[in-house]
Amino acid sequence: MNPHEVNTVRALLAEPQQAVIIPHKNPDGDAMGSCLGLYHFLTKLGHNARVVAPNDYPKFLKWMPGNNSVLIYEKQHTEAQALLDKATLVFTLDFNELGRVGPQMEAALKQVTAPMVMIDHHQAPASYAKVTYSDTSMSSTCEMVYRFIESIGSTSIIGEDIANCLYAGIVTDTGSFKFPSTSSDTHRIAAELIDKGARNAEIHNKIFDTNTANRLHLLGCALKNMVIREEMNTAYITLSQEELDMYQYKKGDTEGFVNYGLTLDGIKFAVIFIENREEGIIKISFRSVGEFSVNEFARNYFNGGGHKNAAGGRSERSMEETITYFESLLEKHKMELTS
Ligand code: 5GP
Ligand code: MN
Repeated sequence: MNPHEVNTVRALLAEPQQAVIIPHKNPDGDAMGSCLGLYHFLTKLGHNARVVAPNDYPKFLKWMPGNNSVLIYEKQHTEAQALLDKATLVFTLDFNELGRVGPQMEAALKQVTAPMVMIDHHQAPASYAKVTYSDTSMSSTCEMVYRFIESIGSTSIIGEDIANCLYAGIVTDTGSFKFPSTSSDTHRIAAELIDKGARNAEIHNKIFDTNTANRLHLLGCALKNMVIREEMNTAYITLSQEELDMYQYKKGDTEGFVNYGLTLDGIKFAVIFIENREEGIIKISFRSVGEFSVNEFARNYFNGGGHKNAAGGRSERSMEETITYFESLLEKHKMELTS
């Protein structure tokens, strides 16, 4: 944040606020960790804060301190809407445009007159917020919340609760410190968080080592379905609704599946297509290594976006038509994919 933005936030937080903190739809570890980390911070400063998530999120994120106070807009609509109506300050975390909360909550946010503060590391931030703290070089929104706390107050306020939430998001978005967005500062901040009470080994265990047999079998199915287009340096996976049903799919079960494509030697572009019959869409995750921008690919062809090497999007066509279209796009981008 620049000094002007720091002053604006300080002035806002000089008065007691009714704050609502919002992650994107289908929140991941970074979205929930950053929102709950900020929630503890604002609460400690004496504000009345609540996290309102657009929809539910996986069980492996529900251990975070403060989780019990989170409201789900989709399920607890009346209570959540009442909070938005009386909010004096709204934080939007880990997303760059209001559409990322889903149509129902987007409409509600457009009615909000309270000032908004965006903290986010995705490309192309929209301009709805009074303060836009956007930095695409950051590993995670959790790293940004740490820096936010540092610039408007002091990290001495960070205790165990904040530390565990922020550490969880950093671990999630850096792929356990292995993605290129992991900087020396990310490690320094992670180290600080451990000193302040983040139980690092336990956090890894809670996020990554709580598989069910069904999830592992679904992974087996996904890997079997993987199509490897060696000549395009591309690998993609499909999962149909029937396959998801067969293994009693639960939210979060497919988290990380897309990354397996990139573990193949020479593969630079990995994709997973997941059918969602209820929403009538195919949800798509894109990953790349190197220069191929999946953010642009998702934005141009699949109504999505994200980061250069990790993005998401959707298709309203059938799985078969989506794959045919995708294959044609591979041809179109063959030069970039094979250079
Ligand atoms: P994932 O594939 O893990 O769902 O998401 C990868 C990245 O792309 C995340 O940073 C996520 O916020 C972003 N992303 C996922 N889906 C969408 C989408 O439909 N639209 C946009 N703009 N970004 C997305
Ligand atoms: Mn993030």
